[in-house]
Amino acid sequence: MGQNTVILKVALPTPLRRLFDYLPPKTKTEQAILPGVRVQVPFGRRTLVGVVMDIAQESEFELAKLKPITALLDETPLFPKDLLTFFYKAANYYHHPIGEVVFSGLPQALKQDKKLKTPKAVPESISQTSPYQFSPEQDKAITNILAQRDHYATYLLQGITGSGKTEVYLEIARQLLQTDKQVLILVPEISLTPQTLTRFEERFGGQVASYHSQLTPAKRRDVFLNIQQQNIKVVIGTRSALFLPFQSLGLIVVDEEHDPSFKQQEGFRYSARDLAVLRSMLLKIPVILGSATPSFESLHNAALGKYQLCLLPTRATKVALPKIELIDVRHKKLKSGLSAALLDQIKKTIAKKAQVLLFINRRGFAPVYMCFDCGWFAECPNCESKLTYHLSKNKLICHHCERVMFLPSQCPECKSEALNAIGQGTEKVEEAICQAFPNQTIARIDSDTTRKKGSLDTLLDQAHNHDAQILIGTQILAKGHHFPHLALVAILDADGGLFSADFRAQERMAQLLIQVSGRAGRVHQAGRVLIQTFHPEHPFMSQICSQDYSQLAETLLAQRQRSHLPPFSHLALIRANHTQTELPENFLMQTQQSLKTQYPDGTIQIKGPVPSPFHKRQGRYHYQLLLQAEDRKSLHKAISYSSYLLESSKLGRKLRWSLDVDPIEMI
Ligand code: ADP
Ligand code: ZN
Ligand code: ZN
Repeated sequence: MGQNTVILKVALPTPLRRLFDYLPPKTKTEQAILPGVRVQVPFGRRTLVGVVMDIAQESEFELAKLKPITALLDETPLFPKDLLTFFYKAANYYHHPIGEVVFSGLPQALKQDKKLKTPKAVPESISQTSPYQFSPEQDKAITNILAQRDHYATYLLQGITGSGKTEVYLEIARQLLQTDKQVLILVPEISLTPQTLTRFEERFGGQVASYHSQLTPAKRRDVFLNIQQQNIKVVIGTRSALFLPFQSLGLIVVDEEHDPSFKQQEGFRYSARDLAVLRSMLLKIPVILGSATPSFESLHNAALGKYQLCLLPTRATKVALPKIELIDVRHKKLKSGLSAALLDQIKKTIAKKAQVLLFINRRGFAPVYMCFDCGWFAECPNCESKLTYHLSKNKLICHHCERVMFLPSQCPECKSEALNAIGQGTEKVEEAICQAFPNQTIARIDSDTTRKKGSLDTLLDQAHNHDAQILIGTQILAKGHHFPHLALVAILDADGGLFSADFRAQERMAQLLIQVSGRAGRVHQAGRVLIQTFHPEHPFMSQICSQDYSQLAETLLAQRQRSHLPPFSHLALIRANHTQTELPENFLMQTQQSLKTQYPDGTIQIKGPVPSPFHKRQGRYHYQLLLQAEDRKSLHKAISYSSYLLESSKLGRKLRWSLDVDPIEMI
């Protein structure tokens, strides 16, 4: 092989777990080709856009068989070197094809083989200092974190809602901006936290941008390039913002770090929180994980000393935390899920000209539509799951595949006409509340009423300005909002999480309940939270009432430890599905047997294959195989081995399968 042979190692958007070798273009180019540039290459009969990951002198293939690239698309690297390393490490950790990892963060406009246009100029930047005198705890967090500005460290900023976490982010960002650093703030969903974006814009002006999937392709491309050219310094973004080409990133913040939406649930199934820690490690910069209710994984890491815990134990505004009380609904008559005691409290709150929020985590009118004579209930033929009755449409809707069905006029089994909707959804609660309070304005906020563009903003405005006296909503209302007039929060169905098969159900329920409670009593007075329950004596409920999240987490973590569940062990889930039920089952059975032969000593526990809890979905049968190990290294070896098995299996080509490292949903 010649001295000056140059081989370009190119990542392409294909599901193959490798890079592809190409030669430089036939026509001599002036400039050297550097890692991080986009190129156009022939691939089979197509041409694809790829990213040069590395330049090598050797190839495992014969030089004569390698093809030259057909075009060089960027003059300077689009991705800095550290980002390329980050892509490699992320692909390795999640055992995901490198090309798909690289391309998952690239805006659509940059996946095309066009040379780049100069992005739109950004408005002028400003830098305002905080209008507040920081509390001693805020001060301490700011000083500690800034002292480590040139090192990697993960800070777990645990502070109750309203304790001033966002002010901490703003102040650290301000100081980092003075030294020309860039700052990334990851949030679960932008549309649900518009106030965070506004606060950053007010402080820092045009150097702030948001980045999420609802931006137009042109806007996404502009933000991407302006970050690369350092015109934009602060990004408030959802998980994919982690892959943006910052040149001088100085801090990553993961706000509401416990939120499950940081985990991508399809394709490249990464956790943006965990990858934020990895990216900070590679860049040697601090990362802040902020939450009122940290994930048990993060609390565990703090207990192990891997993360540094910073506490903000009091509300910055000095408004007391709401009081949480239970309403025992055993042997009580409920009207559409509402107890007389609750209705009475709603009445009293409204009489005081304050606002009420009713939280119910189920949209639609009623979750079951059934025959009172024979017990038949309406199911989705695609998904084998119960159909939800929607009053406004007078139809049955499947919440998994969105299939809409007409109401039967009689029971398909026994021909009876005694068909009824049972259970409660937001629509049914709304109907009952409208009857009980005919003179009040009621705003229902769930994914049905917020589907139209702009409707969420309108409803949120109504809530903020107190144009609506009673808010009824799902978890959309649990996140980040500040409703200044809200005095009473009622939770209608808190029992669901207590006896679930999902080992994370109680953690989730605790986070949700505390987050929703945090909406009450923000400005003028302490709020109240009422939880209706059939299990007032359950220890979980008394711990929720005492609002000691750390104590509750400790109890639940001790249970996890006894049962060897995460974070005390590590999981990976292999999923497979097909329209024929035997195929995925056989496929996973083969994998299970090979794994058992490979790991006879039990370092890897293999559970399954079993039908997924949600077995039939959109006409396909889903199965899963769970791998569990106490030691992460062994687990990763087993996953590597599995992915080799899965890829080399003939059966594997017929069906859809995926690997999920650190799964958070077992469906
Ligand atoms: P969190 O992010 O923890 O919910 P925020 O940073 O949003 O808390 O602060 C809650 C409210 O308190 C905001 O209105 C904020 O402007 C105000 N605030 C924050 N820090 C202080 C402080 N040191 N003194 C007075 N008010 C503060
Ligand atoms: Zn019947
Ligand atoms: Zn369905």
